[in-house]
Amino acid sequence: SYGLSPESDAEARAWLARHNHSFGHYIAGGFTTPDASFQTFEPATGKPLAQLARGSAADVDAAVAAARKAQTAWAKLPGPARARHLYALARMIQRHARLIAVVEAIDNGKPIRETRDIDVPLAARHFTHHAGWAQLQATAFPDHVPVGVIGQIIPWNFPFLMLAWKLAPALALGNTVVLKPAEYTSLTALLFAELAAAAGLPAGVVNIVTGEGDTGALLVDHPDIDKIAFTGSTEVGRLIRQRTAGTGKSLTLELGGKSPFIVFDDADVDGAVEGVVDAIWFNQGQVCCAGSRLLLQEGIAGDFIRRLKRRMETLRVGSPLDKSIDMGAIVAPVQAERIRALVAQGVAEGASLYQAAIDLPANGCFYPPTLLTDVQPANVVAQEEIFGPVAVTMTFRTPDEAVQLANHSRYGLSASIWSESISLALQVAAKVEAGVVWVNATNLFDAAVGFGGRKESGFGREGGREGAYEYLKPKAMAGRKPRPVQ
Ligand code: NAD
Repeated sequence: SYGLSPESDAEARAWLARHNHSFGHYIAGGFTTPDASFQTFEPATGKPLAQLARGSAADVDAAVAAARKAQTAWAKLPGPARARHLYALARMIQRHARLIAVVEAIDNGKPIRETRDIDVPLAARHFTHHAGWAQLQATAFPDHVPVGVIGQIIPWNFPFLMLAWKLAPALALGNTVVLKPAEYTSLTALLFAELAAAAGLPAGVVNIVTGEGDTGALLVDHPDIDKIAFTGSTEVGRLIRQRTAGTGKSLTLELGGKSPFIVFDDADVDGAVEGVVDAIWFNQGQVCCAGSRLLLQEGIAGDFIRRLKRRMETLRVGSPLDKSIDMGAIVAPVQAERIRALVAQGVAEGASLYQAAIDLPANGCFYPPTLLTDVQPANVVAQEEIFGPVAVTMTFRTPDEAVQLANHSRYGLSASIWSESISLALQVAAKVEAGVVWVNATNLFDAAVGFGGRKESGFGREGGREGAYEYLKPKAMAGRKPRPVQ
């Protein structure tokens, strides 16, 4: 430990023990008894954690049927009544915030400081924000109707927050849901199901089916689903787009990224160095909008890299429950292997590797903060999403060159621009191809602001008014007054 006492995991372990470390699906308001299961592991220790049900075609059928059955009554509820349910979910999350934060840290390997201060509060905020849209639905969205039954598939990097981003707008606007969490990290979704039942959410409004990619595919292919909302890799997103192409299903995709972090000569260097820490070492770099490409103007590049390396020496990597760490564990050994292979490829292509000499825990799945300098724009590490704590640096001379480098990517999720000249920052922001641009900041999220990508980072928005429209269909009506009866 680095000093502060670790967060107690007693309540989380007791919750797991109460379930015998084994979970069924949550369908029609109750947990099923699993026919087939798979094992999950704790990233920070490598020890077995839970047995999860493997969703079959019959499970997906049952969940979709439950969601369909519940949808009419849920959509008919007046907006303010639906809002009361969303407020109740938000309060439930707040009341059990500590338990959710600890379960998330154990299950995913991310620091408790992040789950406690970011994932869980932002999730609660998402439900309160969308309760507002439910209340306003009749006046804010006239001539719109709910989409219907939604299949939602989410990744492992922000398991609880992604669940909130998906469920809150869907429920607020009168849809019901079958959600499939990622196979590595389903525990907080199952905990949410338990809390939702206790909060009095009607049966069938939310159904959780666990499983791997094949369970997700069953949901995508199910004929009685009206829309698929997917967050995950670009590769799987592409597959889902193909599989839904010949159907009437709506689709939104939140996919990968390789976001530029652009630092101009006149930037506040200390602020920008801290920005990098947040951009690429937050959540071990397993962030879709991670600022993974550091684009540095030539005048400050040398000094910036020196200061960044010094800062890297002070980062702490350790147990997710240690409150003083900056980075926790990588979610699974196969992900760490992928990171290792990409870094090796970068070095083989000519990049210089820097990893500060910091202690890593002996067991579990850990990877140190990493910087690759002398990278060329065409190198694999400059183009591929590494999805780990690895930043690559490149330099530029002029603002136009910065824009060119920034846009030299198949992705377009986010961008971060650092300069003390607001006019320069705004000029560059206008030209960068990204769904979200931050100036002298990074990773700012708010439930009221639509988040989403361009290019191969996907389409659709989560949050804000734009995000609400993703769960509504326009319905125009026209006609004549009936003729008066003679
Ligand atoms: P993944 O695509 O492997 O898995 C995501 C989810 O899809 C999981 O639940 C998985 O079981 C399911 N899945 C896998 N194969 C499927 C199939 N054939 N049909 C249906 N479902 C299937 O991605 P991941 O490794 O869990 O997550 C990391 C990726 O997610 C990264 O690329 C990251 O950038 C992206 N991401 C994007 C955003 C965003 O908002 N743009 C947010 C978080 C993560």
